[in-house]
Amino acid sequence: MQRLQGIAVSPGVAIAEAAVFGNEGFRISRRFLSRESVNTEIDRLDQAIAAAAKELDTNRQRVAEQLGDDYAAIFSAHLQMLLDPKLHNELEQMIRDRHYSPEYSVSRAMRRYAKVFLSLEGDTMAERANDIFDIEKRLLRHLLGERREGPTQLTSEVLILAHNLTPSETANLNPDFVKGFVTEVGGPGSHTAIVAEALNIPAVVGVGSFLTEVSGGETVIVDGDNGLVILQPDEETIARYRHEVDEQLSLAAKLETFRDLPSDTKDGVHVTMLGNIELPSEVKQCLDRGAEGIGLYRTEFLFLTREVQPDEEDHYQAYHEVLQATGGAPVVMRTLDLGADKIPNFPLPDDERNPFLGLRSTRLALKHVDMFRTQLRAMLRASVEGPMRIMFPLITNLIELRRAKMVLSDAMEDLDEEGIPFSRDIQVGMMVEVPSAVVMMDHFVEEVDFFSIGTNDLIQYALAVDRSNKDVASLYTGSDPSILRLIKMAIDTANQHDRPISMCGQMCGNPIYTMVLLGLGLRTFSVVPAAIPEIKRVCRSVTIPQCEELAARALSLESARDVRTALRDEIIRILPDQPV
Ligand code: PEP
Ligand code: MG
Repeated sequence: MQRLQGIAVSPGVAIAEAAVFGNEGFRISRRFLSRESVNTEIDRLDQAIAAAAKELDTNRQRVAEQLGDDYAAIFSAHLQMLLDPKLHNELEQMIRDRHYSPEYSVSRAMRRYAKVFLSLEGDTMAERANDIFDIEKRLLRHLLGERREGPTQLTSEVLILAHNLTPSETANLNPDFVKGFVTEVGGPGSHTAIVAEALNIPAVVGVGSFLTEVSGGETVIVDGDNGLVILQPDEETIARYRHEVDEQLSLAAKLETFRDLPSDTKDGVHVTMLGNIELPSEVKQCLDRGAEGIGLYRTEFLFLTREVQPDEEDHYQAYHEVLQATGGAPVVMRTLDLGADKIPNFPLPDDERNPFLGLRSTRLALKHVDMFRTQLRAMLRASVEGPMRIMFPLITNLIELRRAKMVLSDAMEDLDEEGIPFSRDIQVGMMVEVPSAVVMMDHFVEEVDFFSIGTNDLIQYALAVDRSNKDVASLYTGSDPSILRLIKMAIDTANQHDRPISMCGQMCGNPIYTMVLLGLGLRTFSVVPAAIPEIKRVCRSVTIPQCEELAARALSLESARDVRTALRDEIIRILPDQPV
C-alpha cells in the first residue's frame, strides 16, 4: 500500500479501478486471460512486437537517408530494446503464469523499467525513461488497435490517473463512468479543479510524478477531502473508506432537506444563493439543489467543448437553452474568459511566459473583436427570453471596461439596424478579480450596474501565486488577511454606492468561509451546485452579529494560518458535524 499526498480540489471519496492516462494517452485495463487463450494472446503480442519493429525500421531507414546515420541511431536503440529477448521472456511469463493481458503486461513491465531509469540521477537517464515510454506507447498502439479509449470515451467506471487534464478534457469527462481523478501536475485554483467540483467527482491534483507506480486496472482510492491517493490499498483501508462513502451519502441525504428552505440567517437576514455553471446542462443541478438563479455562467466552455469555433447561432442556442432551463430565474452570463489555462480552439501567442498575466479574458476578447461581437450579439438576442445580465471578466482598468462596453453598444446598434429585438435595459456588470479593480471601485461604480467578486483570480493576483501551480499551492489561500481586507473594501465601496455585489469565486462555496463572508457584508453567494445545500445550512445556523464579530477578529489577525484556525474553530463550534 502506498499513500500519496496531493492537493484536495474536489471533495468526496471514490474507490475504483484505475485508468492510467500517462504517456499512452489511452486506457489499459487489468484484464485476466482464460487458460485457453494464453497461446493466442502470446501470438498477438508477437505480432504487435513485429509490427512495431517494422515501423521502427522504416523510420530508421527514412531518417538515415534524409538526415544521416547519427540521427537514425535513436531508432536503432529503440529497436534493440524492443527486440531484447529478456523483455520478450518477461512479457511471455506474465501472460503465461499470471494470465495478464498483453497490454497490461507491456504497461507493467515498461513502467518498471522506466521507473529504474527515473530513479537514477542525470538527464541521460531521464531520456532513457522517455525512450521506454515511447516503445510502450508504440507497442500498445499496435496491441489495442481500434480498441483505444481516450479519457473522454470510457465505457466502464474508473478513476482517471493522468499527468495532466486540461479544463476542456475535464469538461468532456462523463461522470457516469469517471468516479474521480488524480493528476501529477495542477494547482488548487485551476479550471480543471473547478470543473471537477462542478462534475461533483472527487479529485486530487499536483501529486507529483507517480504514474510509474501504478498500472491500469488496479484498485485505487481517491480521498478528495484530504488530498490523498492510496495505491494498492489493503482490505482494511478499503473497508474504512467504504464506511466513509456511506457516511458522506447520509450527510448528503440530510442536506437534501435544505433544498426548498431559504438561505436566510438565523436572525432573518436574507441571503441569495445562486449557482455557477460551465454548460447549459448544469442549470438543472443548480435548481434541483435550491439555487435562486445562475450567478456565473462561464460561457467560454462553449469553446472548450467543441472542435470548431462556435458561430453566433451556436452561442445563441446555448444561451437560449440556459434561459429556458432557468425558467424566469435570473442569469448572469459572463463574456469570454479564454486564455491562460483555458486554451481556445484558435491560435494564441505561443511564447507567453506568464499566460495568467498575458493575453487572457477581456484582453483577448478585445483583440478578437469580431469574435467578441458575435458572442455579444447572441447574448443580446437571447436577452428577450428571460432576465439575464451581461458581465465582463478580468477588468483591470476603466479604459478596458469602456472598450468592452463600446463593443456591446456596437452590437446593440447593429441589431437595431437589422430590426432584431433585444432587451434595451439589460444590466451590465464586471468581475472584481484584480486588486486594481478593488482599489478603483469608487470609479467603477459609476460605470456598471453590478459587481461579482472572483476570488479565484483575486487571490492569485493579490498574493502573486499562480493558481494552477502545485509548487506554490500552499500560498494560494483565501484565508490570507490581505484577501479578507480586499473583499471588505470591495463590498463596502459597492454598498456605499448602492451597487449590488456578489461573489462567484470558489471561496464562497467553501463552508469554512461562509461566516466571515457574511460578516464582511456579502449577501449574494454564487457557488458550485454541489455546495449549495451545505452553504445554505451554514447561513441558516448563524446570526449576522456572530459573523460580524468573527470577521472583525479575522481582519485583525496577521497570518493565513491564524485566520484559518479562527474560522475553523468558529464553524465547528456552531456545527460540529460540518466537514471543513
Ligand atoms: C474567479 O476568478 O474567481 C472566477 C470566478 O473566474 P474563473 O475561475 O473562471 O477565472
Ligand atoms: Mg477569474
